Amino acid sequence: MTPKVDKEKCIGCGACVAVAPNTFAMGDDGKSEVTNPTGDPEATIQSAVDGCPVQAITLE
Ligand code: SF4
Repeated sequence: MTPKVDKEKCIGCGACVAVAPNTFAMGDDGKSEVTNPTGDPEATIQSAVDGCPVQAITLE
């Protein structure tokens, strides 16, 4: 499963970066992006998906 961030939906809250810092980082545009789709354990990435307040992260 590969996480993807929908930048149209992302509000730049930083929650996913706090939960899974080896997978997500804040981009220059102030929105999250995937830096390494397998950077954190799957359960951690799932927690980031579940914790996104605007459901901007999907697993494909
Ligand atoms: S948790 Fe969601 S809204 Fe917040 S930075 Fe990550 S992708 Fe964006």
